[in-house]
Amino acid sequence: MSDQRFLLERVRAPVSDGELVADVRRVSQIAGTTAVSFRLYSKLGNYSPQTASLRFGTWNKFLAAAQLEAGSERNITDQRLFENLMRLWEHYGRQPRFRDLSLAPSVISGGPDQRRFHSWMRALESFVEFANAQDARPPIPVEGAGSRKTGRSPNLRLRFSVMKRDHFSCRACGASPALEPGLELHVDHIDAWATGGETIEGNLQTLCAACNQGKSNVL
Ligand SMILES: [Zn+2]
Repeated sequence: MSDQRFLLERVRAPVSDGELVADVRRVSQIAGTTAVSFRLYSKLGNYSPQTASLRFGTWNKFLAAAQLEAGSERNITDQRLFENLMRLWEHYGRQPRFRDLSLAPSVISGGPDQRRFHSWMRALESFVEFANAQDARPPIPVEGAGSRKTGRSPNLRLRFSVMKRDHFSCRACGASPALEPGLELHVDHIDAWATGGETIEGNLQTLCAACNQGKSNVL
């Protein structure tokens, strides 16, 4: 069971920003328009439009980087879709399956995900590509963080990296929702954030709810 769930990572090497920009320009040329919509790009582009918009922040920022016109399509909700995939990954302790989408704790049905990503595999690929991409930007200073560089809550990408590293199981007792359905996993600060610990991968660990509770009682 250990290897199967992360098979996706080997599917495709991350595309560079330059390749994304070059490809949307190519689409602009063949379609004869400087306003390349998300939909148009999903038909003619070589990469997923989700990847491009996440990489650059939004679809329109991506277009701006390629010196193309911002389209009228509303900004998309990839973050929400990815949060849902992450929720399922955490809940099941394994790669989510398509049918998991229609059951709690999923908050999005299969329909929108499929329409947006064209296929379930593509949705998972986009998610894994997003989660594996390095955040090149320096951490944004956080209000109330004191001398720390990072805020208390790990973002989706960091939560995924930590849980993936820990095989979606508790670092203290080994429990995993893959074996114990309903088991709740938390991402915990090894050095507490409240006492100066940073929210970085090296200071985070996966704990089950019971072990996390036990830890805070000790402290
Ligand atoms: Zn535990």
